[in-house]
Amino acid sequence: MFFPSSRAAALAQLNEFIPLAGLYVRDRNHVKPGHPSVSRLSSAIRCRLITEQEVVAAVLRVHPFGQVEKFIQEVYWRRYWKSWLSQRPYVWDEYRDRLTGMGDSLAVRSIEKMQSGNVVIDHFVHELVTTGYLHNHARMWFAAWWVHAARLPWQAGAAFFFRHLLDGDPASNTLSWRWVAGLQTPGKTYLARRSNLEKYLAPELLASLSKGLAAFENPQPQLPELAGKSPITRTDGPIESFTLSDGGGLWIHEEDLAVENSPLAQHAFSTVLVTAAVESWQNYDFPYPKKVWITAALHDACNRAEQHWHVATQFETKPAHGDAILHWAKLNKLQHVVTLRPEVGPLNDSLPTLRASLADAGIRLILIDRPEDLQIRQFAMGGFFQFWERVQEKLFATPSASASSKPQHL
Ligand SMILES: Cc1cc2nc3c(=O)[nH]c(=O)nc-3n(C[C@H](O)[C@H](O)[C@H](O)COP(=O)(O)OP(=O)(O)OC[C@H]3O[C@@H](n4cnc5c(N)ncnc54)[C@H](O)[C@@H]3O)c2cc1C
Repeated sequence: MFFPSSRAAALAQLNEFIPLAGLYVRDRNHVKPGHPSVSRLSSAIRCRLITEQEVVAAVLRVHPFGQVEKFIQEVYWRRYWKSWLSQRPYVWDEYRDRLTGMGDSLAVRSIEKMQSGNVVIDHFVHELVTTGYLHNHARMWFAAWWVHAARLPWQAGAAFFFRHLLDGDPASNTLSWRWVAGLQTPGKTYLARRSNLEKYLAPELLASLSKGLAAFENPQPQLPELAGKSPITRTDGPIESFTLSDGGGLWIHEEDLAVENSPLAQHAFSTVLVTAAVESWQNYDFPYPKKVWITAALHDACNRAEQHWHVATQFETKPAHGDAILHWAKLNKLQHVVTLRPEVGPLNDSLPTLRASLADAGIRLILIDRPEDLQIRQFAMGGFFQFWERVQEKLFATPSASASSKPQHL
């Protein structure tokens, strides 16, 4: 399986997928070797080699909305999760703090070594570790088994996914695991049932994994201890403005790698720095193949930035990226470091320290939001369907979603 690590390759993969998008609603839930019925674009979208908006626009150039609504809806599930977490950053903080206090678990280590005692789970662990990808349905089954059958903490499962998935995302991953565990929609857990696996596993997989199906026979929910509403604690501040007359450098990071396709494209920066968040990769224990993949994507962003801005573009892989940014900003006598705002997650966690050290040197850190993100963020007040109705009204101007178009699961 191929997961594009350059913008050109991601656009090519998107083009290949477009003719299949009309069949997505019928085929998307089937777990087949090679996953031909889904786009496999999640890692490219995750670090924005291509944006959600571009993906949706490309699909709509070829298909009428009604034929590809399910696909578009799934792309907007991603924006929903991002928007939801962005307004409730404490949910990420609590997850991260819980992980820190959790320590090592023998059971988790056995699962990682493909010794879970269940052939279905070992199969998916193997796929995850060797490819960095799992089909959505496999993620749901795996997480449900972890939480409700193995009765392990959901946070440890989320951390395992986050480490290995090339698309590992603080919002989509953490909130999907919370959803399976019954925390995201209070009172609702997701259970993986044998009949569901039998229906959606490809025949060749079903045959080889049949011995593991008994574990999904009669699932019983492990109800969460605390499941309440999650209030909004962060609303958008005023949009930051800046002029570059007095010197500004562009900082590009792995949270958004299509900067020449953003409001920053029109500004004339005097220098560009691309950083790898190596310290965070170490903290979250990213395996070598994932580090190689992100590094390739960063290199691609570096090349594109050089072509777009025609200025010296530096790629920095030192572990302490904050020190590298400070050093670069001082060397280039910058007054502003401008970047696209990283959303809630490890990179965002490092910003207060970076902002303070830059401020000590008289340099201002300016975070710019993409207007398309801001436009819909506030719609993530409650559940996805509410969000989707508002998104449709705002962006697609179609009648609001009918009850029949509600997704049955993520
Ligand atoms: C437990 C669990 C953990 C997950 N962790 C992540 C994660 O870390 N990162 C991540 O990007 N997705 C995550 N997902 C969502 C989903 O499984 C993947 O986005 C999808 O499988 C990626 O495959 P694809 O690109 O072929 O998707 P397609 O089916 O082709 O969908 C197109 C795009 O829509 C978005 N998308 C599709 N389904 C979902 C969904 N259910 N939620 C959010 N966005 C979606 C993705 O960006 C995807 O690339 C998780 C789901 C579960 C149940």
